[in-house]
Amino acid sequence: MNATAPTGAARLKGLMFDLDGTLLLSDRSLGNYEILPGAAELLTELARRAFPFVVLTNGSAYPPAEQAAKLRGLGLPVRDEHMLTPSSVAADLMVRAGVQRALVLGSSGVGQALRDAGIETVHVGERGERDVQAVYVGWYPECTMKSIEAACEAIWAGARLYVASDVPFFATKQGRTMGYSYAIVGAIRRVTRAPMILTGKPSLHALRFVARRLGLRRSDVGVVGDDPSVEILMARRGGATCFAVTTGVMAREEWERQTGLRRPHQVLRHLGDLLESVVPEIRSK
Ligand SMILES: [Mg+2]
Repeated sequence: MNATAPTGAARLKGLMFDLDGTLLLSDRSLGNYEILPGAAELLTELARRAFPFVVLTNGSAYPPAEQAAKLRGLGLPVRDEHMLTPSSVAADLMVRAGVQRALVLGSSGVGQALRDAGIETVHVGERGERDVQAVYVGWYPECTMKSIEAACEAIWAGARLYVASDVPFFATKQGRTMGYSYAIVGAIRRVTRAPMILTGKPSLHALRFVARRLGLRRSDVGVVGDDPSVEILMARRGGATCFAVTTGVMAREEWERQTGLRRPHQVLRHLGDLLESVVPEIRSK
């Protein structure tokens, strides 16, 4: 799986990077970051070569521009418009669906991308919490049973359920850390049985949004991530090429055991491998 680059990899025209476990590790409070080896060098080199890339996290805690500024402060050259979150995808889907007001189950930054897109957001306890066309669940460590109840009542009144991340855990410096929206949505759906619209990875909504932001077809995009059920599954479903790293939730031996839609096209020894696999013709210039 590693000796040679996947067929066609050199023809890829853009890259999408996962954040946690791929470019950095945060601590559980998301306040303290450690950039992973080679990440700053790789992105700096891609930027220098004008090779298109975006970063798509499943984290919704920070608005995209705020997250991008944090990353730049740590030496990762990510422009605001190249930082994507599930809230970016949610805003796009909601605008297309005609959503005007959404109940947000999330900490203060979660709804910013929605507001930037012209959608009014309300939080639990505010006026009009049931008079919404959408419920959006993101990073919400402050969630209470009242929040879940408000979401269920909005859904019973006709709102559709949008979810940032359906991932039970992600990689941090302290190891596996629980995904809040996964737990919250589990409770809401147990009560309402409402279908959910997943906006983050591994949904094809997310990959389509990435491809559109890069101005490419999905088959021209290389997806780089640490989780077989997140980045790899999304890329395989959507016809993109996928690269796995061993710095997040999976060790190399675990990657070797993956099959079908969870098997990457290539396991990277380090992020710098991408310069060989994906952009060699640029490198030789
Ligand atoms: Mg990850």
